[in-house]
Amino acid sequence: MLRREELAQAKRIVVKVGTSTLTHATGKLNVGRVDRLARELTDLVNQGKEIILVTSGAVGVGIDRLGLKERPRTIPEKQAAAAVGQGILMHIYEKMFAEYGQIAAQVLLTREDSVKRSRYANSRNTLLTLIAMGVIPVINENDAVAIEELKIGDNDTLSAMVASIVDADLLIILSDIEGLYTANPQTTPDATLISTVHDVSPEIEALAGGAGSTLGTGGMHTKLQAAKIAVSSGVPMVIATGTRDGVISAIAAGEEIGTLFVSRENRLQIRKRWLAFGARIKGSVTIDSGCERALADGASLLAAGIQTANGSFKAGDTISIMNLTGREMARGIAYYSSEEVARIVGCHTNEIADILGYKSYDEVIHRDNMVILG
Ligand code: GLU
Repeated sequence: MLRREELAQAKRIVVKVGTSTLTHATGKLNVGRVDRLARELTDLVNQGKEIILVTSGAVGVGIDRLGLKERPRTIPEKQAAAAVGQGILMHIYEKMFAEYGQIAAQVLLTREDSVKRSRYANSRNTLLTLIAMGVIPVINENDAVAIEELKIGDNDTLSAMVASIVDADLLIILSDIEGLYTANPQTTPDATLISTVHDVSPEIEALAGGAGSTLGTGGMHTKLQAAKIAVSSGVPMVIATGTRDGVISAIAAGEEIGTLFVSRENRLQIRKRWLAFGARIKGSVTIDSGCERALADGASLLAAGIQTANGSFKAGDTISIMNLTGREMARGIAYYSSEEVARIVGCHTNEIADILGYKSYDEVIHRDNMVILG
């Protein structure tokens, strides 16, 4: 079972900040808060952590800049506010991160990016490349263009999807409350903070109540939905208050703050179970016997060991790995399409870039994305 101290081992951390954390009660941006956020995240990067920021605030900031008296009711108006606000939001992040020597990158996602296999692979690759470059992705929903059916709708859920897409070690959701309480602390004075949740049960969900503040879209309900996604993807999640300085570093240091949602299985187990039993098989590769032994010993699948690519599969599809006798010995997610694999079979990893004109990955299937079938 995951203990708090173990969160200190988390390397890849997704941090979500909500509108209520980023804006004053006046609706205007809390510049000091954004500054402290950028400073704190930079410090974590300097400790060797990888940070992905999911930020709300586009609609709220847009409302303020447009001088609207209340939150717009129609979708086009909300989208217009988001289009105005997102630029302002990004400008301030860019400025603050630059102050601390960091490069920020704006990434705007919609629901499709996490559910459509091809889009998922693209968003994953982009985010992982940014992280590898030492850049801090600053993510929001693409509010200005996403039509309602394709919207994720709230950034709590978006942040959990992002945590799952990038295989984060930890998701931190900052809010205007300390965490999940045994009852509504505003109405029940003896309500106590729940430190750890092992199962997002109906009883736990019943504690959530309705939505919270007026500027954001969240509330405890969406946070628990996010917790379900995170936990079922093997990513532990902490809800804590964003109003206290140093809270992110303290959580990342394993301190007992806010509410921790633990997952019973780790990411790898979950992904491998899904690979073995849940995924649709789109094609296969046949490998030589040396490669078969290497895979059984825990190696990744390289082009050198492949003899043929069979069927038609795309990068990101799940495929079977067949040995020379035609037995399916493993399954995994291919980093290259069947056409690409056909061109690089038998080749050394160093040759891939020359043959294809690019090299997305060294491996054709990484061992973390592979399950050996008995
Ligand atoms: N994407 C929205 C925004 O930037 C926020 C959604 C949310 O608060 O959950 O304003």
